[in-house]
Amino acid sequence: MKELYITRPMPEKVLAAARDRFSVTLRTQNTPLKKGEMRAALVLYDVVMPTLGDLFTAEVFEGMSDARCRLLANFGVGYNHIDVAAARAAGIAVTNTPGAVTEATADIALMLMLMSARRAGEGERLVRAGKWTGWNPTQMLGLHLGGKTCGIVGMGRIGQAIARRAHFGLGMEVMYHNRSAKALDMPARQIASLEALMEQSDVVVLAVPGGTETRHMIGAAQLAAMRPHAHLINIARGDVVDEAALIAALQAGQIAGAGLDVYEHEPAVPEALRQMENVTLLPHLGTAALDVREEMGMMALANAIAHLEGRALPNAV
Ligand code: NAP
Repeated sequence: MKELYITRPMPEKVLAAARDRFSVTLRTQNTPLKKGEMRAALVLYDVVMPTLGDLFTAEVFEGMSDARCRLLANFGVGYNHIDVAAARAAGIAVTNTPGAVTEATADIALMLMLMSARRAGEGERLVRAGKWTGWNPTQMLGLHLGGKTCGIVGMGRIGQAIARRAHFGLGMEVMYHNRSAKALDMPARQIASLEALMEQSDVVVLAVPGGTETRHMIGAAQLAAMRPHAHLINIARGDVVDEAALIAALQAGQIAGAGLDVYEHEPAVPEALRQMENVTLLPHLGTAALDVREEMGMMALANAIAHLEGRALPNAV
């Protein structure tokens, strides 16, 4: 049997399916792999199933052209933690798990939009603290999303799932910024300029992939384009936003609030963000549901099995 290395504890269903086809070594810690562990894994196993946080930099692939591992079957759609060009140069293929994560992640985006606009976190903290003095006509007024504009940055699978929810669910107008044109099954306007999108949106939602091309795509200039009542939602990757610039914009009242699922230096979340009532903070919950994680695992395994059988990889990146 071929050797498969799985870098984190996984749902039982995924492990059982993996053990049917591979001799499985399961790493039982929930921490990112260290460089030495990554290099050892490439040498010792036929397939490695890494995930978010396992930083496969170019350095990790140095001298690995003859290593045993020929496939990194990533658990997750985002693969900005893997230097794919360096992997390819070492003859190691990379796959991901698109689709499996789309609807669940879009749900979290909607949750953050609503929580941020309607001040849900702040309200919940008020009630929990025993400080709520009762309903009144001007208590905790937020932003009603119906009829407002949702600006989506990155209109891919998740961006479109967010757009459908915002339009058909909340009655929002949708506009988006994306490099290529998209054939959509709903009304939405493409905006060529990112700043123009930020300026015209009541809620901006980020759904681009992470990586060098999108690092700090949202910085001081883009935040300055937003209006004071607008909210920024990030379910993409933390470093798409210049976190220091976001803190400054929030502190200056340039924007009304932010809803974040991801952070620039995850899992570190700046104290300044944690102190602000108008910031909603989630611990990277995008795909955190058992059936979603099972589907992601089965998809990663389908790639590993295709590799084992010499078939084309279903989700090569
Ligand atoms: P996708 O289908 O590849 O969509 C990404 C979209 O972004 C594409 O439409 C792409 O189109 C656009 N894009 C890429 N670079 C851009 C740029 N510089 N400017 C404007 N648009 C750009 O990917 P997906 O499945 O929707 O996933 C998106 C990302 O969400 C993942 O890569 C991952 O990092 C993140 N994610 C987060 C969670 C979570 O738990 N919070 C869960 C799943 C995924 P063009 O290339 O034509 O511009």
